[in-house]
Amino acid sequence: MHLKTLTVRGFKSFASATTFEFEPGVTAVVGPNGSGKSNVVDALSWVMGEQGAKTLRGGKMEDVIFAGTSGRPPLGRAHVSLTIDNADGQLPIDYAEVTISRTLFRTGGSEYAINGSSCRLLDIQELLSDSGLGREMHVIVGQGQLDRILHATAEDRRGFIEEAAGVLKHRRRKEKTLRK
Ligand code: ATP
Ligand code: MG
Repeated sequence: MHLKTLTVRGFKSFASATTFEFEPGVTAVVGPNGSGKSNVVDALSWVMGEQGAKTLRGGKMEDVIFAGTSGRPPLGRAHVSLTIDNADGQLPIDYAEVTISRTLFRTGGSEYAINGSSCRLLDIQELLSDSGLGREMHVIVGQGQLDRILHATAEDRRGFIEEAAGVLKHRRRKEKTLRK
């Protein structure tokens, strides 16, 4: 499984549709300060279901929509789609290529889709959760977050590892059951 393409339109600094193509292995995004490198990473976490505006470096979710520049008016929606190569079947869905997409309208509504069919956020989260592509931070380590991991308490560090290993959700379920 690997990421194939990421298309952003109206997302943060990317007003026009822009597509990034990835090859298997390591990808580096380089560019001057403020050119949008972190916005590419934000688009990845956003399309995979990120719900925290703070994680996306904004105040509210609407801040991901292109806010306009001196030469270009703001847009009414942000759209991101991510195509994943699933030839090895690691994602539990019967397609060799899976495209997930997310749209947010300035008026407030959201749309999610898997291979063009609209779905719920939960469907995307479930599709990704067992594949090591889950939306939380063991996958995407943002600028400045390395310090957070290095200085985490032993317990928090265990949480990162458990999440990466896929056992955290079972532990959460167990804790929930024990509370009942
Ligand atoms: P650095 O090298 O400093 O980390 P970077 O390449 O990671 O920079 P980003 O943080 O991805 O840069 O991009 C910042 C730019 O994105 C800023 O110019 C900011 O104005 C712009 N930006 C962020 N959100 C929006 C938005 N909603 N609409 C328009 N532009 C936006
Ligand atoms: Mg950056």
